[in-house]
Amino acid sequence: MAARMSNPEAKPWINAIHAYTPGKAKSDDGRVLIKLSANENPLGCSEDATAALVDAKSSLARYPDPASNALREALGAHYHLESDRIVCGTGSDELLNLAAMGYAGAGDEIIYVRYGFSVYDIAARKCAATVVVAPDRDYGTDVDALLALVNERTRVVFVANPNNPTGTYCTDEDMARLHAGLPSDCVLVLDQAYGEYLEDDGPAAFNLARQHGNVLITRTFSKIYGLAAERIGWAYGQPHLIETMNRIRAPFNVTAAGQAAAIAALSDTAFVDHSRAHNREWRDWMANEIASLSNHGLKAVPSWANFLMIMFEGKVSAETVYLALMDAGYIVRWLPGQGLGNGLRITIGTEEENRGLVQALRAILETNG
Ligand SMILES: *Cc1c(COP(=O)(O)O)cnc(C)c1O
Repeated sequence: MAARMSNPEAKPWINAIHAYTPGKAKSDDGRVLIKLSANENPLGCSEDATAALVDAKSSLARYPDPASNALREALGAHYHLESDRIVCGTGSDELLNLAAMGYAGAGDEIIYVRYGFSVYDIAARKCAATVVVAPDRDYGTDVDALLALVNERTRVVFVANPNNPTGTYCTDEDMARLHAGLPSDCVLVLDQAYGEYLEDDGPAAFNLARQHGNVLITRTFSKIYGLAAERIGWAYGQPHLIETMNRIRAPFNVTAAGQAAAIAALSDTAFVDHSRAHNREWRDWMANEIASLSNHGLKAVPSWANFLMIMFEGKVSAETVYLALMDAGYIVRWLPGQGLGNGLRITIGTEEENRGLVQALRAILETNG
């Protein structure tokens, strides 16, 4: 056999992937910044969750429960779901990837909306599927545009509701219409990472998944529960969907401490209620502040999540503001790589952070405008 002297070559569909860009916590010159770039809970997490986590970390030698049984039971009780229709994951990130891998491959198509969550693109390309991007409507999901792209090769449709990075919401009626327009062998992955921020907690999605064999709901402990560091997500769907996920997930995919912390977090409803109320109050406040800056060309996209996407349509660009905010000590999310070079996504922070950010923003607009 002739000697093979070149480096190993990754598959072409893998080379086409742009690695996920996480929200930054430091400036390029290494200063620690107030981080409003990753939609984390500014209030932290439940003290009960921290206590459970610390306790679980006292015995590190044993593998965790591979099936996350106690956590699935707790989730079932809390959300009124059948616990055997739940699978837990290393963040919902793992589950989004598994959904693509389980149902699509080379020659198949996966659809998501323009300005959708960037993980969908990675998940789709990883399994060699063809990516199909549907045009948005006012930065949100356009059901008709999406359905127009469905064909016999479509295997998976990803929709985040509320959507990240734009914060938009697709009504229950529209979501039901989207589902009704899909072939029954095409999986609708309904990503509800921000579901707990909705006033009604988004139960219509669970009902859709209970009734239909091609709907998978994903949720996470990374957002309102404030457990992003531990990487805990879960999915709900009919048994055949959950079986697929169980077949291909990592065997011990949720840590023992993560399972314990998540169970405790579910019981602390006061913390979640407080987080939701705080978010609603300050998101409204922030939206009003942005509205008062419309003379500078600023416009906030209406948000149902824990962040605001602000569009810059005036003289001062999003990039200028992004860099100047960093000088002022705040890091927000600028997403030119996702076609949103004229916007900034700002996570709702603590009162002090929100007031400080808006004050800095006003000063920047006055200096540069
Ligand atoms: C944050 C987020 C997730 C959650 O990711 P984890 O892996 O659970 O931390 C999933 N989907 C969307 C749209 C998100 O914004």
